[in-house]
Amino acid sequence: MDKANLDIVIKNAIEYAKAYENTGMVASYIPELKNADKNALGVCIAANNKKIYKAGDCETLFTMQSISKVVSLILALQTVGKEKVFSKVWVEPTGDAFNSLVRLETHTHIPLNPMINAGAIAVAGVIDAEFPFSRFLAFMRRLCGREDICLNERVYLSEKASGMKNRAIAYMLASEGVLERDVEQTLDFYFKMCSVNVTAVDLARIGSILANDGVDIFTGERLIESEYALIAKTLMVTCGMYDGSGEFAIKVGIPAKSGVGGGIMCCVEDNFGIAVYGPSLDAKGNSVWGLKVLEYLSKELKLHYFAGSKIREYI
Ligand code: GLU
Repeated sequence: MDKANLDIVIKNAIEYAKAYENTGMVASYIPELKNADKNALGVCIAANNKKIYKAGDCETLFTMQSISKVVSLILALQTVGKEKVFSKVWVEPTGDAFNSLVRLETHTHIPLNPMINAGAIAVAGVIDAEFPFSRFLAFMRRLCGREDICLNERVYLSEKASGMKNRAIAYMLASEGVLERDVEQTLDFYFKMCSVNVTAVDLARIGSILANDGVDIFTGERLIESEYALIAKTLMVTCGMYDGSGEFAIKVGIPAKSGVGGGIMCCVEDNFGIAVYGPSLDAKGNSVWGLKVLEYLSKELKLHYFAGSKIREYI
C-alpha cells in the first residue's frame, strides 16, 4: 500500500461522517454538558513520525468523562500494583449501560471491569496518593505534554450536583467493602477526573503513547509500563465502547475508549494514536459522527487488528 497522506485521509473522514444525518444527542444528564455544539467534529492523529495530523474542531476543549478511566486505571496499577487493583475490579465485559448497578447485586459485588462507572469508582478508591486528583492531573500533564491541562470547574460542579446514580454505586461498593476509603472523597476524585478538559490533540497523544508500548514518541520517555499499557489496551478492546464494544470491534477493530463528553481515544499499535471529538451521542453514549470517522479510517488505512500488519505502512 502506498504511504497514505494522512492530512487528506482525515479530511475525507470528516466529510464522510458529516454526510450522515446527525441523529444523536448531546449528553444532558450532566446539565453542563448540554452546552456543547452538536455539530462539532474534530479528528487528530499523533503519528510515529512525530507529526500531528488534524482537521476540524481539534482545538475545542471538552471533558474526558469516561476516557479518564483508562488513565486512572494506569495510575492505580502504578501506585498499588496489579494484585490490589484486580482484587477490587474484574476484567470482564458487561453488555450493560456504563452507569448500571444491577450486576453489583445480582452477579457479584465486585464491579465487572474498570471501564464502567462502578469499576472506575472502585479503581479511584485504591489509588495510593495523598491527593489523588493532583496526582491524576500531574500524570495527565505528562501524558499530554501540556502543563496547562486543568479541571473544568463548571462540569465538575454540575456532575457533583447531579451524580446521584454514581453516589448509589459508590455507597453500594462501600457497603460490600470494595471501597475502603471515605466514599464522598472517592466520589469527588471520580467526578474531578471525569471533568478534566482536553482537546482531540491531547487524546491522540495519549493514544500514541499506548500505541508505542507506553513510550512517548515525542520525547522518547517511558510514561507507562509495558504491562500496564497492554492491560489498558486490552480492556479498551473488550469494554471501551460501552455496550457497543462488540460491534465496534467488528466495524473498526482498534482499541478505543469513549466518553459522554464526545471524545473517543484510540490507538493503532506501533503506528499512531487517534482521537475524535463529536459530542452528538447515540443511545449507548458513543459519538455518532465519531464512529463514522473511525469506520472510514479503519477501512481506508486498513487499521483493523485482523487486516494484516504488513500493510500498515503509512508514515
Ligand atoms: N462522568 C460520567 C459519569 O459518571 C462519565 C460517563 C461516561 O463518559 O461514560 O456518568
